Amino acid sequence: MGIEEKLPSGFLLSTVEDLAGYFRKSSFWPATFGLACCAIEMMATGAGRYDLARFGMEVFRASPRQADLMIVAGRVSQKMAPVLRQIYDQMAAPKWVLSMGVCASSGGMFNNYAIVQGVDHIVPVDIYLPGCPPRPEMLMDAILKLHEQVQHMPLGVNREQAARAAEQAALTA
Ligand code: SF4
Repeated sequence: MGIEEKLPSGFLLSTVEDLAGYFRKSSFWPATFGLACCAIEMMATGAGRYDLARFGMEVFRASPRQADLMIVAGRVSQKMAPVLRQIYDQMAAPKWVLSMGVCASSGGMFNNYAIVQGVDHIVPVDIYLPGCPPRPEMLMDAILKLHEQVQHMPLGVNREQAARAAEQAALTA
């Protein structure tokens, strides 16, 4: 009996997917992008005390083209919304978005005309982190939960197309 017949079906593919997921989750490069007070906690998370380098992501990139994780740290003003979207569009795929804090996720206490009531109106969000502000330990916990998502993401899925389809569906609903 050949080796292929002894292996469970899909063995090779799942191994390649697992490897790709492992490398993707272990090499996040976040974009340098802070909007308000939550950004201070994000910067603290990137400092030596919390040692983000353990997770392969100590390099915050100044160029969105070299980043694959956007941490939306703080409230998003209406004027900033198109800039945020442009930065997201410039990031290399596959890419992920973490909404950090209640302001980024829902507008928080800023329920007014100047603030976007949730960054998911502008970009697709992969994980929401509550708190005002979330502490570095909470941000690291959200990043590890995002790692789980990335680890199990199937290869060949076009997240951009799926996100655009979801946006269109939401607009037409
Ligand atoms: Fe500032 Fe709190 Fe809003 Fe974060 S959630 S941007 S800490 S007000």
